[in-house]
Amino acid sequence: MPVEVETLTGGTTTLSDEELGELRETFRGRVITQRDDGYDEARAAQNGLIDRRPALIVRCSGTADVVGAVGLARERDLLTAVRGGGHSVAGHSVPSRGLLIDLSGMRGVQVDPGSRVVRVQGGATWGDVDRETQLFGLAVPGGIVSTTGVAGLTLGGGIGWLHRKYGLACDNLRGVEIVTADGRPLRVSGWENGDLLWALRGGGGNFGVVTSFEFTARPLGPVVMCAVPMYADDPGGVFRAWRDWADTVPDEVTTRAMFWTVPKDPHMPPQAHGRQVLITGAVYAGPPEKGEEVLRPVRRFGTPLADMSAALPYRVFQSAFDFFFAKGALASYWKSLFMRRPDDRAADLIVGCGLARATPESMIHVPLLGGAVSRVGPRDTAFGDRGAHSVLSVDGNWVDQHDTARHIAWVRDVVGRAEEFSTGGTYLNFDGDAPEREPGLLPAAFGENLRRLAEVKRRYDPHNLFRLNANIPPA
Ligand SMILES: Cc1cc2nc3c(=O)[nH]c(=O)nc-3n(C[C@H](O)[C@H](O)[C@H](O)COP(=O)(O)OP(=O)(O)OC[C@H]3O[C@@H](n4cnc5c(N)ncnc54)[C@H](O)[C@@H]3O)c2cc1C
Repeated sequence: MPVEVETLTGGTTTLSDEELGELRETFRGRVITQRDDGYDEARAAQNGLIDRRPALIVRCSGTADVVGAVGLARERDLLTAVRGGGHSVAGHSVPSRGLLIDLSGMRGVQVDPGSRVVRVQGGATWGDVDRETQLFGLAVPGGIVSTTGVAGLTLGGGIGWLHRKYGLACDNLRGVEIVTADGRPLRVSGWENGDLLWALRGGGGNFGVVTSFEFTARPLGPVVMCAVPMYADDPGGVFRAWRDWADTVPDEVTTRAMFWTVPKDPHMPPQAHGRQVLITGAVYAGPPEKGEEVLRPVRRFGTPLADMSAALPYRVFQSAFDFFFAKGALASYWKSLFMRRPDDRAADLIVGCGLARATPESMIHVPLLGGAVSRVGPRDTAFGDRGAHSVLSVDGNWVDQHDTARHIAWVRDVVGRAEEFSTGGTYLNFDGDAPEREPGLLPAAFGENLRRLAEVKRRYDPHNLFRLNANIPPA
């Protein structure tokens, strides 16, 4: 049966049986249409709110498949999305009726322990990377959930548990192999196509399909000290104590304050089940004994209701909260702000909103920036605001979709009220909106870097083939 695929101009084009047959013959990966087994699994997104039906999914097995898929998209003007780990909160990686170039079959990771260079295929997750790098006592700074994709997280920046010591994920990116809109595979490094590397360090999925990332890995663990005290009493006092302590910590400490309701799950301490808590989480990127000492204050801001702190294999900690983020289980809408150091008024607002979350599954968290993040120049990469004190991420998550509008309104309300305490910037990886629906997003995300990003976009994707992302229109 022929397949109707949406085009870039909003119309449709038909791929005939013969064309589909030819595709299936030439691709080594799977070509999946709505009539094929596995279609629903292949289209499923992390965000349970995203329920879209792409006309055609090409699950690539390597660069040649990606070149073929981009070639098809270009020749037929197909509306095209690209998927790495599928965690886009805004749902950028699933098109409604277009083509999905799915890299989830490309998850290889290769570590050279001598040079500490790590090559990662474009569909790998952070769990894939941690598994291979930790064999050698190395790590690439990633996120805080192991199922998140390397691609989207790195291209948008990448905030996790190591950024104050080793920088954002994108700061550790040495180069990529990418298939650009003209359908050519291109090598990108500091020496070759350096403008593109600059843009890929924070500018998102705008510039092509990255088939392989090359990172510098850093020495870590395998055992690191992790602090996870859960406070139920005096959240205002605890938050201010955390803020003041955070002023004093060395770069080895990456820390965040997080408001959450502890799920009734065997992974969590029973005395905290169903309780609203403020977690002052931290990881020490250095010897665990030293970390135990340096992180002790974060566990003494009061008497924790529960304390999951321990010296743990980094990999174990990286996947400790995966259970909460089962694919499709939660509908999500998130927004974020880059923050100035919260004064007492800002702290009161954050705490007040943290305690009045719209659903138990929702979270407000405040990862501290500074350290290595702030030592990279503001124009040295495309990433937005390196001078901010922290990020305020308001993560609306819910199960019952009847009340979706109310939950979205709650997120927007909190962000609106917190805006006066922000730097004016936003972190697009933590955003549930697309710039075409909210025009202020791009300037807020990229500031003065936006103009150069639009120039690079024009050079590598003048017709905006790669537009299902936090889209930067070509200059
Ligand atoms: C549960 C959860 C936890 C998270 N934790 C963190 C965190 O700790 N730190 C943080 O910074 N962010 C975090 N995020 C946000 C995350 O960084 C973004 O959602 C990111 O876009 C996810 O990348 P992905 O590859 O999984 O997503 P996808 O949905 O596959 O893609 C996201 C974007 O990247 C583009 N893209 C994907 N693959 C490629 C590729 N190979 N080449 C070119 N473009 C590509 C897509 O087109 C899309 O625009 C989290 C998100 C979730 C849902």
